[in-house]
Amino acid sequence: MTSLQLSAQEEAVERFLDAAARGDLVQVSTLLSHVPSLINRSGHSGWTALMLAARNGHCDVVEALLSHGCDKFSVNSSSQSAYDIATFWGHRHVSNLLGRTDDGCQRVLPGSDLRQQENYFSRETLDRLSAKRTDKVWLEDRRSDPDTVYLLFSNLSPVVSGPREDAGAELKLCRFRYEAVEDLLQKPATVLIFLGVEKRKKPSSSSSQTADGVQEPPAWFAINTDEDAAELLQRCREKSCCFPKTPDRDLLKLSEEEAGVVAQARSVLAWHSRYSFCPTCGSSTGLEDGGYKRSCRNSGCRSLKGVHNTCYPRVDPVVIMLVIHPDGNQCLLGRKKIFPVAMFSCLAGFIEPGETMEEAVRREVEEESGVKVGPVQYVSCQPWPMPSNLMIGCLAVAVSTAIKVDEDEIEEARWFSRQQVIDSFGGTRPAFTVPPRQTIAHQLIRHWIGMNSNL
Ligand code: ZN
Ligand code: MG
Repeated sequence: MTSLQLSAQEEAVERFLDAAARGDLVQVSTLLSHVPSLINRSGHSGWTALMLAARNGHCDVVEALLSHGCDKFSVNSSSQSAYDIATFWGHRHVSNLLGRTDDGCQRVLPGSDLRQQENYFSRETLDRLSAKRTDKVWLEDRRSDPDTVYLLFSNLSPVVSGPREDAGAELKLCRFRYEAVEDLLQKPATVLIFLGVEKRKKPSSSSSQTADGVQEPPAWFAINTDEDAAELLQRCREKSCCFPKTPDRDLLKLSEEEAGVVAQARSVLAWHSRYSFCPTCGSSTGLEDGGYKRSCRNSGCRSLKGVHNTCYPRVDPVVIMLVIHPDGNQCLLGRKKIFPVAMFSCLAGFIEPGETMEEAVRREVEEESGVKVGPVQYVSCQPWPMPSNLMIGCLAVAVSTAIKVDEDEIEEARWFSRQQVIDSFGGTRPAFTVPPRQTIAHQLIRHWIGMNSNL
């Protein structure tokens, strides 16, 4: 491409963004009909046309961009989506438009105009087809299909590719075909789980094909193996492939789609790696149901009779909460010793047996900070595959304010003002740093800032 063509393209992007910011629907539509790829392009600080239209409350432009299929989940360099921006600037008609998930739901659940926050690790990229897990013939068939995708894990880290020298760059999961992993599937130490099939795009009304003769979408499997890691990498075509050494940092660099797949795969594989023997009698167990069940081999074992939860992958619920000061204008954040310098985050803790989510929030906050909590409200949740938590994000209102930290759990807890929190998202002299946007803590804090800002 010549530099002349390049600058013409940049100019088109600029004109497109400008039209969206001004609310010029005619020009937005004309430019899009000539160059459809403009739709998700961004300019200064990562602002897209949708964000600019949302900022200025141009409902008709937002509607047009959405109908052209623009990505409403993309974020600018301050991690704000178009919805965040519309909410922040008080354009309620625009935020309603961006937050709408399904028109019918509003009637069934009145008052639920709250947009369901999509957290990192939450996207359901594959259709899990759980009913197929017991269909051995079908699974066998899919395993050797040439279109089937395999993800390869060693020590619970997936093979990824990406520029090693650029710490901020996106990583991609390495996808293998049957012939590249065929030998591994024969080995007894290999754990294989069925993840699901790729979701079909909605069929267009013009192509009304019947189920007969239609090719099935590619199936995805994940493998965990204890083979030598360096040797495994030789199966890759690209030189840049590697196993992330620090999963809880590196796995935050995937796309939303791939993060969703990893959340599922890594949690199930981690369960297999820790629960090799029957928790009831200690006998060996066998994999069933496409990798979603381990059954005891001892025919006399109690775990084979009645209802038990030892055979299925576990999920551990964790409450994570932003505690708001009784004055409504400060929030409580704490830091653990292991946090990076100056980082403060929401308090969190495991739910105990026989405890409600609300009681877990009150107990954990009081244990860790000495602050007493009254009302608790659920906001959104996030699967966290290190190894298998479900982070349940809540807002909570404090009924006392004196802080006394439990130094075993956290080293400091503080009330931060709304302005200090806003500054931490991009101000010039932040009082502290917030966790990265991929964490639910970040999203809870952002949610609180957006709640009653009438700027
Ligand atoms: Zn047993
Ligand atoms: Mg705790």
